[in-house]
Amino acid sequence: MKPLLQVRDLRVTFDLGRHGRLNAVDGVSFDLARGEFTALVGESGSGKSTTALALIRLVPLPGFISGGRLLWWEEGQREPLDLLRLSDAQMRERRWRDIAMVFQGAQNALNPVMRIAEQMIETVRSHHPMPRGEILERAAQCLRMVRLEPSRVLRAYPHELSGGMRQRVLIAMSLLMSPRLLILDEPTTALDVITQAHILEILREIQEQLGLTMLLLTHDLAVVAKTARRVLIMYAGQIVEDAPTEALFAAPYHPYTRGLLQAVPTLRGDLTGKRPIPGGPPDLRHPPPGCRFHPRCPYADETCRRVEPTLEDAGGRRVACHYWQRVARTVLVQEPHG
Ligand code: SF4
Repeated sequence: MKPLLQVRDLRVTFDLGRHGRLNAVDGVSFDLARGEFTALVGESGSGKSTTALALIRLVPLPGFISGGRLLWWEEGQREPLDLLRLSDAQMRERRWRDIAMVFQGAQNALNPVMRIAEQMIETVRSHHPMPRGEILERAAQCLRMVRLEPSRVLRAYPHELSGGMRQRVLIAMSLLMSPRLLILDEPTTALDVITQAHILEILREIQEQLGLTMLLLTHDLAVVAKTARRVLIMYAGQIVEDAPTEALFAAPYHPYTRGLLQAVPTLRGDLTGKRPIPGGPPDLRHPPPGCRFHPRCPYADETCRRVEPTLEDAGGRRVACHYWQRVARTVLVQEPHG
């Protein structure tokens, strides 16, 4: 079966005037399989949010999509549609209806002086004329999916709801137009651990019930372990590993993935063994030559400093590292994620 979306050689450039240009997303390619829950993982500044904004063609200025293709496969069609070739009006039509996104921190962006019902009605009507009663019926369905009581929540103002409830309202809003792809940018950041777990459980439930294709952006591998079937690891604007979740947690093949796993605290784990990755992500105006991770990589050698690795097939996954076989053979001591 064809994937829902094939991202090919996607590039997003920011023109910073006299400060130069940088490629926040630099030749990114991946597939989103129909009905699959995929996580896109990286530190802040890795390019994951910019990648997601490019998928819905809402990259903020001074950024712009400078290359690539976004191949959208309608079921039963022989040729894909390149979303980058659609006019702005055509793309606007597809947002929310085909691809919806819950933006990072958006629970604070709900209109404080409008009841939730009015905000949900406005969301639908800005894309599709529909009678109020029908929208409210659909809104109630979506609120129930996120385990909220419609009779109470529809009448409420945002300040009458907790942070976790507001986040669930946003997820419900994103489902209003029955999108086929739902992108969630750090949906549980800034929430307490119990609320986080609750929201992740709801997301998994919705994904299974509706067979939705989901792309979850996070910096937190513990979140990934609880939800996604597949993981894309992003570093300095590029995908460095793309693997099924279980395989990735059992044996990460890229040194950066390995570093992320070694740094993550676990509920049952001993914090003394946790080692953050030394150094920080590179300045993308002047990325290091060769492998972008080489200044932080314990395996780096002269080849890494000169030659840029490409994503290559590593038996059921893709990895961008000259020495992934050697990395894969070294044992990673990792406690189970709670
Ligand atoms: S290519 Fe070299 S520097 Fe880059 S991740 Fe692999 S071993 Fe490390």
